[in-house]
Amino acid sequence: MEETISKNFIEQIIEKDIEEGRCKKVVTRFPPEPNGYLHIGHAKSILLNYGLAKEYGGEFHFRFDDTNPTKEKEEYVESIKEDVEWLGAKYDGPIYFASDYFDKMYECAELLIKKGKAYVCDLTPDEIREYRGTLTEPGKNSPYRDRTPEENLQLFRDMKAGKYPDGSKVLRAKIDMTSGNMNMRDPILYRIARMEHHNTGNKWCIYPMYDFAHPLEDAFEGVTHSICTLEFEDHRPLYDWVVRECEFENPPKQIEFAKLYLTNVVTGKRYIKKLVDDGIVDGWDDPRLVSLSALRRRGYTPESIRKFMELVGVAKSHSSVDYAMLEYCIRDDLKLKRPRMAAVLDPIKLVITNYPEDQTEYVDVPNNQENEEMGMRKVPFCKELYIEREDFKIERPKKYRRLYIGNEVRLMNAYFVTCTGYDADEDGNVTTVYCTYDPESRGGNSPDGRKVRGTIHWIAAPFAKQAEVRLYENIVDEEKGVYNEDGSINLNPNSLTVIKNAYVEPTLEEYKPGDSFQFMRTGYFCMDTKDSTKEHMVFNRIVSLKSSYKPN
Ligand code: ATP
Ligand code: MG
Repeated sequence: MEETISKNFIEQIIEKDIEEGRCKKVVTRFPPEPNGYLHIGHAKSILLNYGLAKEYGGEFHFRFDDTNPTKEKEEYVESIKEDVEWLGAKYDGPIYFASDYFDKMYECAELLIKKGKAYVCDLTPDEIREYRGTLTEPGKNSPYRDRTPEENLQLFRDMKAGKYPDGSKVLRAKIDMTSGNMNMRDPILYRIARMEHHNTGNKWCIYPMYDFAHPLEDAFEGVTHSICTLEFEDHRPLYDWVVRECEFENPPKQIEFAKLYLTNVVTGKRYIKKLVDDGIVDGWDDPRLVSLSALRRRGYTPESIRKFMELVGVAKSHSSVDYAMLEYCIRDDLKLKRPRMAAVLDPIKLVITNYPEDQTEYVDVPNNQENEEMGMRKVPFCKELYIEREDFKIERPKKYRRLYIGNEVRLMNAYFVTCTGYDADEDGNVTTVYCTYDPESRGGNSPDGRKVRGTIHWIAAPFAKQAEVRLYENIVDEEKGVYNEDGSINLNPNSLTVIKNAYVEPTLEEYKPGDSFQFMRTGYFCMDTKDSTKEHMVFNRIVSLKSSYKPN
């Protein structure tokens, strides 16, 4: 079936640029600042830029925007690389570093000075702020604005040579102090700051500002469409000014789109970093976070994230996407791909009184009932099993179809059993349930057409492996909203439940950390990559089986 897909506004702009001959080969980029781990919002930017380059047979650049040494760390560089590769966004050429362009940026600054388009200013930061004016009042010219190009060039060279203390002078663009756009009121291009840079060490004591550096980085690399988020819309005139005044022949074009926000989660590096720094979560990859390393650890796949971004699309105005949509995407991705296994999270014993002592048989279990290609496996079955506590009731609730005295149910893929009794401890907690089985119902098939209305899962007790299972809820309290009035995060006290004494079927020992499964009737789970070992298996719940979200 042919599907007509309408083009998003960015595709429309690009196609017009190609049609009208302004763009021969599309070049896009993803320019993260290495000051934290990437999150789901960045995945949107990565997949959007990568997708456009692929769609138009162009190039996708991956560049670290590492012009601000104070907050940047090598650790972040490594994690960002890992995340981009994991998402499957293949970049063209080497990994670029903005700091590799410091020399070229410096030359551009000298060019502006020589053209009379930039000047060295000695006002203090407070004075600069004062002179800038406000949204309703125009700014005032700096008394240093009319220095000659020769004088500015000498001063700027001396700034670079380290003749002045940090913060004592800046290089500013000479644009318009009365502009209605505050960004155009002689913005700062360079500042003096003696900071060691992770790439250039102590070579520089002056560093370019973002609004000057970023358009230059794009221009140096021949980026054609520089796609960024909406908060940069007001910076576009400055972006255009920089590439025009620095005389690039085919200057890049900035296009803004709306950031991705998800309901009930914490996005924004700043907030995630705070949760990490305050020790509220177990590092940047705590499975309750939506950093990419956390989603990966939780068990999200790159396919599910790509699918999610397709569903979300690109927009020009802000909106929040329901977190349930992301959950829908991972369920949908794992449904036919991953095996379905037995796990009992709150175990009680089930003893089959008429089953031979010391006998073990192996029953055939489909690896995935919805995908025959995944084949079958053999699972041990014997007299003593573990079942879920909630699959037995002393008093039968209305409509309850599982075990209660006198009722017959199916042990999935095994036999029909009829409940005959139970034991409880002093506090009334059930410890063991007794039943008899019908040997004729092997495979869970009715021998004489009689029907049972409940099917429960089980694990043969002597073969069961003890495991730790971690259940997650959103890290923020959905009812109260993400942030408190004072800006702090409204934590959900139940965001993590640790079950220490769950049992899983022995087959799970054949798998490795990072593998995911459906635990029958309970949800999708992933073997934890950080804490799971052969001796002590740990599983993270990715998502439950039921969904509140329906795609249209
Ligand atoms: P944060 O706001 O989380 O701190 P950032 O914008 O400071 O993120 P950068 O490393 O500067 O992070 O951004 C790299 C790219 O990712 C930029 O092009 C930015 O616009 C984009 N980006 C960041 N957050 C989102 C988001 N929520 N949705 C879409 N794109 C985003
Ligand atoms: Mg940033």
